[in-house]
Amino acid sequence: MYRTRAYRYENEQVVLILTLLVVLGVIVLTSTATFCLSGVFILAMFLISALLIRSHHRALMERAVRVDQARTPELASWVAACGLKLQPGPVDVFWVDQKQINAYTFGISSPKVLVLFSSLPKVMTGGELQFIIGHEMGHVALGHTWLNTIIGGMAGIPAPFGAAVLLYTVFRWWNRMCEFSADRAGLLACGDLHTAVSALVKLAAPEIRTQRDFERALALIDAEDDLAANRLAEVFQTHPMLIRRIKALRAYARTREYQHIQAGMNRNLGNQPPAPVPALMVAVQPEPEPDFVPEPELTPQERWPWLKPKDLP
Ligand SMILES: [Zn+2]
Repeated sequence: MYRTRAYRYENEQVVLILTLLVVLGVIVLTSTATFCLSGVFILAMFLISALLIRSHHRALMERAVRVDQARTPELASWVAACGLKLQPGPVDVFWVDQKQINAYTFGISSPKVLVLFSSLPKVMTGGELQFIIGHEMGHVALGHTWLNTIIGGMAGIPAPFGAAVLLYTVFRWWNRMCEFSADRAGLLACGDLHTAVSALVKLAAPEIRTQRDFERALALIDAEDDLAANRLAEVFQTHPMLIRRIKALRAYARTREYQHIQAGMNRNLGNQPPAPVPALMVAVQPEPEPDFVPEPELTPQERWPWLKPKDLP
C-alpha cells in the first residue's frame, strides 16, 4: 500500500511553529500585564484604605470620647483588664454616641483603633461588655484589622462576574472564620461562657430583660440555621449566624486548650483584682411572678455612673 505525506505545503509546519510561538507569547504577555495590573490595583486599594483609616482616626480623636481613667474610669478598667489578658498591643479606644448595638476596630499601623457605641452600656452588663471589648481586641491581636485591608483589596480586583463572585464569597468565608476567632478572644476576656452567650444574644435582642425574654430570643436564634435560605445567605455575610457562633463558643469552652489559655491569661492580670465578671446572666433578672413588671427606665447617671455629666448624651 502506498502511503505518503510528501504533498504537505512547504511552509505549513514553519507557520504552525510561528503560530504556536505567537500564541504562547501573547498568553505570557497578557498574564504578566494582568498580574502587574493586579499588583498596582491592590497597592492603590491599600493606599486609599490607609488614607481613609487615618482620616477616620483623626475624626474620632476630634469628636469621640476617648476611653481613659479620667473620663470613663470603669469602662477604662474593663478595657485595661481585657488588654492585660489578650495583649493586643497599642489600641486607642473611643466611645461614640450611636443608637446601634455595635463595636468595631480598624487600623493598619499602630495604634489600632477600637470604637464602642454608647448603646452598649445601656444593654450589656460589665462582663458582657468585656466580651465585646475582648472580641474586638481579638481582631487586633490576630492581625485581622490590617489583613482585612490587604485581603479585602486583593478580593476586590476587577474580575469576570463568576470569578468576582468566587473572590467575594471566599473573602466573606475568611471574614466569618475571623469572627469565630474573635469570639474566642471575647470569651477569654470575660472568662465566662454564659456571659459570652448572653452578650451574643443581646446583639440580636438588646431589649431582653428577663430570663423568659432571654430564652425566647435564644429559641429564635436557635432556629436560624434550620432554614436553607439562611444558610445560603450566610455565604455572603461577614458574620456567621449567631447560633453558629454560640455553638462554636460552647464547644471551645469545653476544650482543654481553652482552660489552659484562660489560666495563662488570668496570670497576665498579676496582682490586679480580677475584672468584674458577673455571675450567670446577671442582666437577666429572675422572672417576676405572677405578672411581669417592667424595670424602671434608668437615668443616664444610673446607666453610666462612670461618666462625668458633661459626657452624657
Ligand atoms: Zn468581629
